[in-house]
Amino acid sequence: MVERLKEAVKDEDLVARFGGDEFAILQTDVTDPTMAGALAAKIGKLLATPFTIEGHQVRITSSIGIVLFTPDLAGPEAMMVQADLALYGAKDEGRNCYRFHSLDLDQQVHERVTIAEELRLALEDGDLELYYQPQVELATGRIIGVEALIRWNHKTRGLLAPACFIPIAERTGAVLPLGQWVIDEACRQLKLWHLEGIAPPTVAVNVSSVQFKGASELERDVEESLARAGVEAGELELELAESVLMEATQKHSETLQELPRLGVRIAIDDFGTGYSSLKYLTVYPVNRLKLAQELVFRVTVDYRNAAVVRAAIRLAHELGIEVIAEGVETEAQVRFLIAAGCEQAQGFYFSRPVTAARVAELLREGRIEPVSRRARPLTSTAA
Ligand code: C2E
Ligand code: MG
Ligand code: MG
Repeated sequence: MVERLKEAVKDEDLVARFGGDEFAILQTDVTDPTMAGALAAKIGKLLATPFTIEGHQVRITSSIGIVLFTPDLAGPEAMMVQADLALYGAKDEGRNCYRFHSLDLDQQVHERVTIAEELRLALEDGDLELYYQPQVELATGRIIGVEALIRWNHKTRGLLAPACFIPIAERTGAVLPLGQWVIDEACRQLKLWHLEGIAPPTVAVNVSSVQFKGASELERDVEESLARAGVEAGELELELAESVLMEATQKHSETLQELPRLGVRIAIDDFGTGYSSLKYLTVYPVNRLKLAQELVFRVTVDYRNAAVVRAAIRLAHELGIEVIAEGVETEAQVRFLIAAGCEQAQGFYFSRPVTAARVAELLREGRIEPVSRRARPLTSTAA
């Protein structure tokens, strides 16, 4: 593959591999955009010729995004973001094609670059905040943990949800300092709750795949934050997406062996979305499966979702792994989950993610009465 790419470019052009199936080419001396288009077309053709690997014919397709350097571009980072957007444009149009960064894309780019820059400042200015969503034991309503979810108190745009900035932070690398801050802040908060005597058994934080790839930094961040706050490793849970673990399994990553050695818990976020290999469950010490919202949402309306959720709960039980249902919104879902043997849940039905101050009130009570019971207080107190 690299051979073919090198064959396509001139000696003075730069070919780089970003990992996986992502490559970049820096083409120099381009006087006309069509030159870049011509190179992309040539690469597309070269890569489309079948490869012979161990006697098998393998065909691949390629998508190419092109950005032209102009002096008003903010720098290499801005250029990469634009190339990326063009690449996604190319992918949307179907495989085996190339696409230029367009005016329309340009607007999106502008927003992204601004957000990436503002995000760095937000970290320094303390404009990021962790909200917490309680996790509840279904049988008793006891709060058995909280998940930290980041929010951005943006100076002009108000409160921003992670979907507005985490993907951009991941693409620009800003997610690394951000992720470090999240771990540190969650540990600090946990310590405060300890001092008040209301600490939940676990605090969970979301870890992006980008953080996970910088394995040794992640380990170091976690260790330092735990030590700084003076909380036990077993109280901290790292939530990893299924896809991250799949990849780690393929690469025989040592991070996943190391993290539990530190004593922190590992949870699989959004379990049941997209990936079918369950091998990682046999390889890595996972403490908890989080059944994806998309599955839980439909358990009472679609028998297939119900079957998948029941099977996942059984699987977790057989492996001796805890299981929690995410995105629980209705009493019907709670009934279904209890009947299916699920012991834990998290969702708007119990509480939305709330500020540290508000969740502290809930922690002081220690339990969240299911809405159905809360709805009948008059009769029950009268009785
Ligand atoms: P997630 O980790 O799967 O978090 C659950 C998301 O579902 C949260 O959205 C939460 O507010 C929402 N949710 C909880 N219960 C319900 C419910 O009953 N119904 C519905 N419709 N939604 C519910 P949020 O806070 O917007 O976060 C979205 C995603 O952003 C998270 O998904 C997580 O992947 C990511 N994220 C959040 N905080 C961080 C962070 O600190 N670092 C990183 N890397 N990612 C984060
Ligand atoms: Mg999560
Ligand atoms: Mg989730």
